[in-house]
Amino acid sequence: MSADSREYHRQYYAAHIDHLRVQKAACQAARRQRLRDAGLPTRSDRDRERGRAAYRADPERVKKAVAEWQRADRRRKFASTANVKAKKLGIPGRLDWRELPELPRPCHYCGTEAQGFDHVIPFVAGGPNTIENLVPCCLPCNERKNRFPSKGPGGSVIEQIS
Ligand SMILES: [Zn+2]
Repeated sequence: MSADSREYHRQYYAAHIDHLRVQKAACQAARRQRLRDAGLPTRSDRDRERGRAAYRADPERVKKAVAEWQRADRRRKFASTANVKAKKLGIPGRLDWRELPELPRPCHYCGTEAQGFDHVIPFVAGGPNTIENLVPCCLPCNERKNRFPSKGPGGSVIEQIS
């Protein structure tokens, strides 16, 4: 490839980056579907199987590695816990920790520093496990909300009338 041609491709790529990304994602999704249709493992199937094999070989090492990975960013632990719970309860939705806003940020209910999130409409009340149903929430507010699931922003009904 000549230098001119390389430069042309570089510029073409830069100018069409968004379109090319969409195209690539569609291509990969189609490939995954073809593999599934043929009963063959996709890359994520193989990754999952490798993870399971590592766990079978040395569960403690894998548990430690996962805990460390989750500690490095609280959003990871939050999303993982919420996803496990939602799946168990049959709640729709799945969180991708990379889509959650970075922490800390002000608590939605009291304004103090929040290191976690809260499902505004809780699972028990039929709320989905989606980013639209999340607000930043501090630990005390989260615990208060767990004790009085009916209350919304501004404190529970019980607290307001007493
Ligand atoms: Zn709070």
